[in-house]
Amino acid sequence: MESDRGNITGPIVYVQILYDLAGAVSSIDFKSADGSFGKLSNAKVFSPQTAPEDQVFPNGKAISIKMADIPEVLLGLLHNQSELASIADFRPFPRDPAGVPMVLRHTLSCEACGHQWTAQLAEEQWKFICPRCKSIVETVGPAIVWVGPQSASLKAVWRDLPRPGSRIADVGDLTIDAMEDGICVLDPLGNRVVIHVERNGISVHLFAGGGDTPTSSSYKVAQGIIAPIPASETP
Ligand SMILES: [Zn+2]
Repeated sequence: MESDRGNITGPIVYVQILYDLAGAVSSIDFKSADGSFGKLSNAKVFSPQTAPEDQVFPNGKAISIKMADIPEVLLGLLHNQSELASIADFRPFPRDPAGVPMVLRHTLSCEACGHQWTAQLAEEQWKFICPRCKSIVETVGPAIVWVGPQSASLKAVWRDLPRPGSRIADVGDLTIDAMEDGICVLDPLGNRVVIHVERNGISVHLFAGGGDTPTSSSYKVAQGIIAPIPASETP
């Protein structure tokens, strides 16, 4: 969205948006009182009279936007939750295998053995395996807490963006996401079967419980042969 100075009223922030060579947004930073660029939570708030002039660079631009327009502007720039990592406020968070910042803390308690633990994830997850006794533990609603940026605008953007890869089906407790070159089948415990289309067949990778390292059970089916894929060759 281009800022139109004539229409700007109310509190304003100055945001620097940089693009990579492919034209995708690579970073979004807000000008702070000390002149550096960084988190929205540290942003200097300008009035319409003091807001800096818009600037265009070869690889991006810096523009004044109304604070009230932040969600609309960011939703116009980003396509899915993994791209939130370009925003300074989301950058410090660890990311899940799909690249989505992990901003939901789950507090879990196993009734069977009494073990208590927390898990920070990018999505709400309703079932876990107790790391101590392997019982299945169900999450109760209040046990999931937002630990992401405190800005209501940024939280709204997170809520309104889809996850990367489009969800194509829910089958029982399984969800199926479309990926660039295949599909991902996910169960409520975060276990995933990822199927990639290869040049002459398909490959199948298994991921346990939200981890991003495939198990040794990765296979390739190509030219009539089923062969295990060495861990060193898994994506
Ligand atoms: Zn347990």
